[in-house]
Amino acid sequence: LGGPEPGPQHRIRVCVRKRPLNPREAGLQDFDAVTVPCRGVVVVHEARQRLDLSRYLESQTFRFDQAFDESAPNELVYRHTAQPLVESIFRRGMATCFAYGQTGSGKTHTMVGDLSAKGQGCPKGIYTLAAQDVFCWLQEPSYKQLELQVYGAFFEIYGGKVYDLLNWRNRLKVLEDGKQQIQVVGLQEEQVSCVEDVMKLIEVGNRCRTSGQTSANTHSSRSHAIFQIILRKRGKLHGKFSLIDLAGNERGADTGSADRRTRLEGAEINKSLLALKECIRALGRNKAHTPFRASKLTQVLRDSFIGENSCTCMIATISPGMRSCEHTLNTLRYANRVKEL
Ligand code: ADP
Ligand code: MG
Repeated sequence: LGGPEPGPQHRIRVCVRKRPLNPREAGLQDFDAVTVPCRGVVVVHEARQRLDLSRYLESQTFRFDQAFDESAPNELVYRHTAQPLVESIFRRGMATCFAYGQTGSGKTHTMVGDLSAKGQGCPKGIYTLAAQDVFCWLQEPSYKQLELQVYGAFFEIYGGKVYDLLNWRNRLKVLEDGKQQIQVVGLQEEQVSCVEDVMKLIEVGNRCRTSGQTSANTHSSRSHAIFQIILRKRGKLHGKFSLIDLAGNERGADTGSADRRTRLEGAEINKSLLALKECIRALGRNKAHTPFRASKLTQVLRDSFIGENSCTCMIATISPGMRSCEHTLNTLRYANRVKEL
């Protein structure tokens, strides 16, 4: 246990995960335009056309703390991203792990796992894998004696409003008190005592997230889902791990849409993803001012962006297809900016 205290720049890890080309893309004659040649490196080979209409590939290289190609299972991604942060919440830390990327790039697959593939071999997501480790650490003698209780909370931010996914999408208010503490008033916290309890919460929350929606993917592409594992000691907050399945980053570009609602949602998503980037960057620079008030998302995560004991990990998920190149490059540029000091 222990080791050297991480410096501010080590409190942020940025990783990239590429998913496999799927049968639909293959059927549309799309092809794999992304390679992961070695540890931490991602190359995008974009097809371009010269003035004389001849075609060529332009390669762009990006470097991250870690990059996973399509062969990496959830467990491997977990081991290099969220797992190293789990123990910190036992040491009174605040940990955060985000999945950021285009709709369909694998955010939910990574965080929640595959709910569609119910039953045989459906891969566990980072929510479940992190919970498993929390219960392991709880048995460690030095932590066992703290007599901590574990709670789960699950809520969603949609159009700048907060909804409780463990309480029938009850609309929640976010209040800031005089000491700049943020409270999500009335947020349901369920006590859990084993990983199966946590899996039940995830299932209930996910059903709540998508029920009554015309299309599950349309809705989830426009909302941020936040799952929290909370440690309390005699009711008092001890540590917290927030695991976030962000809205599709392409939705931030919907601000030019003709439909008013889509336009407003797009503006809100755009604002929250920009604020998120700035808050993580502030954490890396140990800056005095963290612009967390700029969006509801960063506001509810305020205590994860301040303080000596906060660490963050981002998993940028990308689609491999040539047709997704533009979105993929946007995702990689955003991820790069988060890390750049
Ligand atoms: P997002 O949440 O970013 O919109 P999803 O996680 O729903 O994307 O992924 C879209 C589809 O691709 C799903 O059917 C999912 O099972 C599949 N998928 C995503 N990532 C992977 C992966 N790494 N390996 C295999 N299938 C994946
Ligand atoms: Mg999703």
